[in-house]
Amino acid sequence: MKKKILLSFTLSLIIPILIMIGLFFVIQNSTIVKNYLTSDIKLNNQKIDNIDHIMYSIDKLRLKIEDNYSMIKDYETFYQKVFSTNQKYVSNLQIVDPKGKLLFDALDKEALSKNMMVDKKTIQSFKEDSNYKTSEEIYINDQLVGTALITMKVDVDSYFKKYFYITLSILILSFLILIGLILFFSIKISKSISEPIKALNLSAEGISKGVFDIKVDYDEKNEISNFCKIFDNMRIQLKDSSEEKVKYEQSRKELFACISHDLRTPITSIKSYVEALEKGLATSKEKQDRYLSVIKNKTDELDQRIQDLFCLSQLEIGKFPMDFVVADSKIIFKEILASFEMEFKDLPITFRVNHPIPSVQVKCDKKRIAQVLLNIIENAKKYVPDKGLIQVSTIAENNSFIVAIKDNGSGIPSEHIPYVFDHFFTGEKSRTKKHGGTGLGLAICKQIILAHGGEIWVESTVDVGTTFYFSLPF
Ligand code: ADP
Repeated sequence: MKKKILLSFTLSLIIPILIMIGLFFVIQNSTIVKNYLTSDIKLNNQKIDNIDHIMYSIDKLRLKIEDNYSMIKDYETFYQKVFSTNQKYVSNLQIVDPKGKLLFDALDKEALSKNMMVDKKTIQSFKEDSNYKTSEEIYINDQLVGTALITMKVDVDSYFKKYFYITLSILILSFLILIGLILFFSIKISKSISEPIKALNLSAEGISKGVFDIKVDYDEKNEISNFCKIFDNMRIQLKDSSEEKVKYEQSRKELFACISHDLRTPITSIKSYVEALEKGLATSKEKQDRYLSVIKNKTDELDQRIQDLFCLSQLEIGKFPMDFVVADSKIIFKEILASFEMEFKDLPITFRVNHPIPSVQVKCDKKRIAQVLLNIIENAKKYVPDKGLIQVSTIAENNSFIVAIKDNGSGIPSEHIPYVFDHFFTGEKSRTKKHGGTGLGLAICKQIILAHGGEIWVESTVDVGTTFYFSLPF
């Protein structure tokens, strides 16, 4: 843009100057102009071809006067040396000193002896280059010693006048061209600035009203287009973040709805059993104990849900206290998995840990990793058949210690897989849960593994089984 402006202004100066020089060149060489200029300048009724000859002869005459000035008092010699050769264009030559005293008169030798003074008005008429008259100042050693009053045989004045008018016309024309060019480039430059500004304005106005779809349409290659691109990227980012915000708001509303539903269900249940007890509907001791046991279970469930929610929210905002230690993976996982092996001894489900467990140094919070395994294994327990199989295998590769928990359960439909780690996802449309989950377990697992700098993912085939994987970096 800077270059463009500079170029435009330079061109708007250079072009009229070039045009001016060109016009002068044309004028000097054009016969029409030449004829026009010399049309009134005649010498003995013969038209002169070139005015320069006259100018040159006047200049020559002045030089001769200066060269022979010392002889000015010797009339004959001075006349001979200075004037005899200049008679083609000059009809008379008079020389006066700065005070106006006549020093030489080519036509009147006698006038000198009379000590004649030439009046100022007459001298002035020569100085003003009036018709047939011109004057030249005579300098000797940079000292003005007199003025040559030259009477011409030709009318030089009309030439000068015409020449002056033509020069003036060229100047006016060049000036008009200059103004035209400046206007042209100014409009072009201002257009190249105003167009993107208009586009920016439109887009900015849209943004201020929450409309993020008005693209800044400007494709020229300059600094403004760079700015437009940056602005447009900003608009896209704002658009994305506004969409994100809408989504976030939506999921927040859903979250609140889920939380309130999940908490209300056990509370309603507890409330109805308490009311039944109050009204004395539990008539027998056995019935009373059953009611109380339901109330206790529901209270425990409620407590667990509140704990899960608290844990998840703390994990998500990075405020959950983690107790990291760097330890041998083999020792850690052997210990955690041993407790599961014990538990499954009394169950019809087979729980198998594939040994050996690789021995690498991992940074982990043992209690939280145990919680991850517990959540995944508890889920597997819910979905495997009566004599199901749950297998845990471990591997260390590419700086990751990977744990795989595989079951031969009902599997997860492929359309559910992307959502299993979302809050409250239970895979069941109706909230009357067959498996009784809250949909928080895997969301908590994900946050714990992320806090370890690892990853968690799942592979599943309906009616074949599911494998959950998580990795810990080492
Ligand atoms: P919850 O188990 O409390 O419902 P989770 O977050 O632990 O919540 O699990 C989310 C959902 O993922 C479950 O409701 C279930 O649909 C699915 N799921 C998890 N583990 C398995 C599994 N091993 N086999 C089949 N489905 C599973």
